[in-house]
Amino acid sequence: MEIKESLRAIESTIQRAKKELAIGEQELRDYLQEHKKEIDIDIIRFYYWDTSLKTSIASDVLGLKKAASFIGKARKGYGFEYPCCKCGNKFKYYPKLGEVENNILLIKDDRICYKCVSEQQQREYNAKWGISSQESEERQRVYEQRLNALKYMPYPEYLKTEHWKEVSQRARKRANFKCQLCNSSGLLHVHHRTYENRGQENNSDLIVLCEKCHAKFHDKKVVE
Ligand SMILES: [Zn+2]
Ligand SMILES: [Zn+2]
Ligand SMILES: [Zn+2]
Repeated sequence: MEIKESLRAIESTIQRAKKELAIGEQELRDYLQEHKKEIDIDIIRFYYWDTSLKTSIASDVLGLKKAASFIGKARKGYGFEYPCCKCGNKFKYYPKLGEVENNILLIKDDRICYKCVSEQQQREYNAKWGISSQESEERQRVYEQRLNALKYMPYPEYLKTEHWKEVSQRARKRANFKCQLCNSSGLLHVHHRTYENRGQENNSDLIVLCEKCHAKFHDKKVVE
């Protein structure tokens, strides 16, 4: 019986706390609603790192429809120069939740730079498939040679490569074989928005355009 009494007391404490929590959340929502116009990236970051508010609630009250966009906004461009625990080189580290306090990245000794991570993966891959380090270096050399060739060959020649045929066809597929400006189908060109990554284009480097729209990009000259 004594246990039952104790449980009852605890239960009523929990119910009181729940009520207060609900009131607190409502106050927060009202406050943020009022100040919606002033909410900037710092406040988003504050909610991401410095409060115990649930991600789903934070994204909701801050007017960011999805939790993912809340996290993305908070972390975007918020990298810290940090020494790699393997090679010691500094690299840009994008913190996870709970790793920042008052805009300062908490010190940890297991952060590895992207280069060391990829080398590690390469070693594991080689070990798994029994590739010797000599072989691996040779492959790397061939890959870099190929990339250099794609990057620096004359552009008309580049457009004839198997690489470009594949990349541009994938872009058309992604665009559902429609012009990404006017939605028309028919003959579709793939236009480079930037040539920076020629030879290893990112999806966002390319835009699929019909002949008419493409001509607008190039003052009527039709090239890819
Ligand atoms: Zn490193
Ligand atoms: Zn078009
Ligand atoms: Zn173009």
